[in-house]
Amino acid sequence: MNDKDTSTLDVFGVGIGPFNLSVAALLHPLQELRQVFADSKPDFRWHDGLLFDDSTLQVSHMKDLVTLADPTSPFSFIAFLAKTKRLYRFIYADFPRASRREFNQYFRWVSESLPSIRFDTKVEAISLDGETLKIETSRGEYRTRRVVLGTGLTPFIPACAEVFLGPNVFHASNYLHMRFDPRGKRIAVIGGGQTSAEIISQLMLDADAMPHELHWISRRSNYLPLDESAFTNEFFTPAYCEHFYTLPAQERSRLLEEQYLAGNGISPALLLSLYRRMYELEFLHGRKRPCNLLPGTTLTGMERGADRESYVLTTQTMSNLHGQGLQKLEVDAVILCTGWEYSLPACLSPLASRIDRGAGMFAVRPDFSLEWDGPDHLQFYVQNAARHTHGIAEPNLSVMAWRGGKIANSIAGRTVYDIDHMSSVFDWHAHTAARIAEIEHA
Ligand SMILES: Cc1cc2nc3c(=O)[nH]c(=O)nc-3n(C[C@H](O)[C@H](O)[C@H](O)COP(=O)(O)OP(=O)(O)OC[C@H]3O[C@@H](n4cnc5c(N)ncnc54)[C@H](O)[C@@H]3O)c2cc1C
Repeated sequence: MNDKDTSTLDVFGVGIGPFNLSVAALLHPLQELRQVFADSKPDFRWHDGLLFDDSTLQVSHMKDLVTLADPTSPFSFIAFLAKTKRLYRFIYADFPRASRREFNQYFRWVSESLPSIRFDTKVEAISLDGETLKIETSRGEYRTRRVVLGTGLTPFIPACAEVFLGPNVFHASNYLHMRFDPRGKRIAVIGGGQTSAEIISQLMLDADAMPHELHWISRRSNYLPLDESAFTNEFFTPAYCEHFYTLPAQERSRLLEEQYLAGNGISPALLLSLYRRMYELEFLHGRKRPCNLLPGTTLTGMERGADRESYVLTTQTMSNLHGQGLQKLEVDAVILCTGWEYSLPACLSPLASRIDRGAGMFAVRPDFSLEWDGPDHLQFYVQNAARHTHGIAEPNLSVMAWRGGKIANSIAGRTVYDIDHMSSVFDWHAHTAARIAEIEHA
């Protein structure tokens, strides 16, 4: 598409993370649709502050941008392997899980192959302008009929740590950007999910460059595994997302809590490698307690130490493993592996009051479009912001291609991708279609 052409687009995508890249790849064959996807970054980067050499996907490489909606797409991971002449090598390397670095290469390759992609383009404001949506960006204006929001999640910083953010107190999402040298420091890693485990693993990698002290503080009662068992994996299927959608709101909240570890635990392979590394460091390198494990412990406060260089953490211990109650811990650095949360993109501010956000959450329809009080022919779609309606798979790659296919079908107004009624071992889908139709017409 020629950017000088100022006529109205059919689709404008805000953000080019994997989720909007999936939609862009699936919309690409629909050449009748005028489409642009924009991202403020200079090129494709997948959480590059955490892109370690040894990080692997937590899911099968078949859960790529397109395969689960269209196995014949030229934008699959297998197509990327073929294009880069490494198909046989990939098979014989027999990785238990593909590397996140390789998936980043793959995503980048897709982003470079699609004419609709614009990097270095920050979306500043979206407003209603007559019969169209006006998109103001750092590189000029667009008009569109539909917007797909793929702005991702924002790092969550505990309130007590906010004023101390800097070279020695930072969110894990910036880890590799900080060029942090752990040698000789007393370090606290806060959090009990996959990211904290990956950071602990990095900090124990080189026995000669270890921190002086390493404390791993987690609210959870232990360092708990991701549940990757077969029946639990069914929560990461389209059939379950659709079934989940039909449940009463209270039941959905209860299930999200109950299923938390299915999406937020630590990979069992990483847990085993950490356990082995602690063994090696203790018995083969003679390092007594290379990592001080503090499960069942919550960070509740933080202040400067007496020397003004260190930090004194206040923690609340729930279990009786280390006693109970408040404890103090003095450290030189704090790495916050405290998760990510959805926040309303600033560019939506001009329309914020017109988009339905009861209890702070979007009213999301089954096809991921949003309820709002603007004209019906102008639509917003949302990704990574529908856990409350579509379930725990929402932030995960597992349903990315399916959701991308749903959005593409909805935008096209026809079934471009035949992705409904996928088989499930459970009978969830027996009444789902009828129930969704009821909800849609209510
Ligand atoms: C370290 C890490 C590893 C993960 N690994 C896995 C995994 O192995 N398996 C799995 O299933 N899930 C994984 N996830 C979860 C999920 O798949 C990723 O978080 C994924 O990147 C989410 O994609 P997204 O497109 O929603 O957001 P993001 O990847 O965060 O992309 C959002 C993009 O929007 C852009 N943006 C935001 N606002 C604007 C604006 N106003 N204008 C222009 N651009 C804007 C940002 O620059 C960014 O590039 C992982 C998450 C993390 C943090």
